Amino acid sequence: MADISLSSVGKSFAGAPALHDITTHFRDGEFVALLGPSGCGKTTLLRLLAGFEMPSTGTIRIGDSDMADAAAGRMVPPENRNIGFVFQSYALWPHMNVRRNVSYPLEIRRLPKADIAARTLAALEATGLEPYADRMPSDLSGGQRQRVALARCLVSDPDAVLLDEPLANLDVALRASMQGVFTDFHKRTGATMVYVTHDQAEAMAMADRIAVMDHGQIRQFDTPRTLYERPRSKFVAEFVGRGTVVPLRDVQMSGAGLQARALGARIAVQSSPDTATVSHVCLRPENLTISEVGDLRAKVARVTYLGGRYLLETVAACGTCLLAETRAKFEVGSQLGLTIDTPWAFAED
Ligand code: ATP
Repeated sequence: MADISLSSVGKSFAGAPALHDITTHFRDGEFVALLGPSGCGKTTLLRLLAGFEMPSTGTIRIGDSDMADAAAGRMVPPENRNIGFVFQSYALWPHMNVRRNVSYPLEIRRLPKADIAARTLAALEATGLEPYADRMPSDLSGGQRQRVALARCLVSDPDAVLLDEPLANLDVALRASMQGVFTDFHKRTGATMVYVTHDQAEAMAMADRIAVMDHGQIRQFDTPRTLYERPRSKFVAEFVGRGTVVPLRDVQMSGAGLQARALGARIAVQSSPDTATVSHVCLRPENLTISEVGDLRAKVARVTYLGGRYLLETVAACGTCLLAETRAKFEVGSQLGLTIDTPWAFAED
């Protein structure tokens, strides 16, 4: 078992807090993404899990072992954690060829030579690197170097793998294909993976669950679908996916559901039963239907072809920008009606 538990974990640098009181649990074998804007504390959280930093408060457990206890001043060093790391910078040994980069962690552990050779070959095959085994890192592309870093993790059979923006240096097309390499690696190893990114599309494509972070806290930790369809706050609604957050007025129970006024229109909204008060909704493109008898009038300001459909940026009569998707092409400047279809409502914070 290599689940990861954090209890009241905080970290300050010279008195300035970078993480506040984080209590959370990553399941054994889960692919977790830490997602959030620059400076929100993603890398700090990863470094605490790795053992590169000591928490200022709280405890960290990986599997059955206590890894850090701030109150007791105890911490297990990184080399004793059975954790793999993959960094944006690849961190390969430049003077060793690909095979040696992959086998080296086993050599340090003084495993039998035949064992090392068999495990290295299996890791090279699993990452498609066998044809490059004799090349030096300087003679590889960015994607190939990142595969070497993954093969080096794979060979050590880690309980958990920590990845810090591993695709940040790669171009868009390569990033998409490398996402498949990472998810295959995850399936193959069954390791718990914690993946730092500020790219929400990447997190949505790969992770089982995403911890959305802001100002040193986890604002919501849920599946990609729940984060998109049921955000709990304005911050998460705006950070994950497209849409416009607008305030609600006159929120009332009506029959089985909630009704409210948004942008001057009376609309039905949905929300979580455990949310005591809702104050905002997120109008995603799926919540807006183009129809002549719409709730709102809007003017098309910009049209983007998305492949098979168009994204319309419209400006409603009240001045709010709203996004709609359609199969039919509209001209910039045309007027249309928009019907609001039961958007998701939440509290502001
Ligand atoms: P980015 O996406 O830009 O990498 P991040 O979410 O990973 O950002 P962190 O690198 O964890 O953010 O930084 C969180 C906060 O802690 C920032 O305000 C940062 O300046 C501060 N910080 C991180 N490491 C140190 C350090 N060694 N000394 C002082 N402050 C630090």
